[in-house]
Amino acid sequence: MHRILAGISFSVSTTMAAMVVASRFPGMEIPFPYWIFGFCTPLCISTPVCIIMNRQAEQKRRLNDKLRAALVELQQLAEVDQMTGLLNRATFLRRLQEEQDRQPGTCLLIDVDHFKAINDGYGHAMGDRVLKAIADSLRATIRSDDLCGRLGGEEFAIYLRNMPSTQATAMAERVRQAIEMLDIAAADGTHIRPTISVGAAHADGSASAGPSASASAGAGASADQLLQRADMAMYAAKANGRNQVRLAA
Ligand code: GH3
Ligand code: MG
Ligand code: MG
Repeated sequence: MHRILAGISFSVSTTMAAMVVASRFPGMEIPFPYWIFGFCTPLCISTPVCIIMNRQAEQKRRLNDKLRAALVELQQLAEVDQMTGLLNRATFLRRLQEEQDRQPGTCLLIDVDHFKAINDGYGHAMGDRVLKAIADSLRATIRSDDLCGRLGGEEFAIYLRNMPSTQATAMAERVRQAIEMLDIAAADGTHIRPTISVGAAHADGSASAGPSASASAGAGASADQLLQRADMAMYAAKANGRNQVRLAA
């Protein structure tokens, strides 16, 4: 409303000001009825014009807001795995590389054990429910600013930012235990208790302790290299009996 009033006042006052200036010149005296005419004419013209322009400006603002919201939604759709709400593969890999360039950390590669048997025994929809429950559990276990993504199928990955290797190993173990605690009731009354195998690879340049001590890629090593090392460690965990954490060699 104040914009409309401002527009009308501007229009009336500039007309009146022009008339005042003109009336100062000799022989240009303006009779009184013309002053009324000079006041009413811009008032009558500018009122509907200002109302229409204000309405259009509001419409434009609403459209801009909608467009901005749609862009945010679109960006989310492009970055997030629709089933689990975690980062999708491409986004996880991009963010992993960015994080790697910025600060060292630990990458956990997680694969659900014998997941095909869950699908075969309970159906694909139930398999999806298990994946969602696993994703929720991963999210709840790690810190809110750690990266967590679904790389595809029943494979997930986590990047623990700026965490010393011993702490990261303990976190990987906590993640494994949290999944082991899941108990998902199936329609037939049986219970699904998924487990995961975890491969951990550090990129902090420090060696980790323990019987399965890891070598480390230096900070700034490529995300691909880090993932590859975590992947090999994960396969070692599978070969060693599954449901365990292994550190990259
Ligand atoms: P391992 O312990 O060696 O990892 O065995 P696995 O059965 O988990 O591994 P495998 O690669 O044999 O099977 C993975 C299965 O995951 C096969 C595939 O059909 C299933 N799968 C992949 N993506 C999805 C999905 O989005 N939803 C469901 N329900 N199943 C999926
Ligand atoms: Mg797999
Ligand atoms: Mg698997």
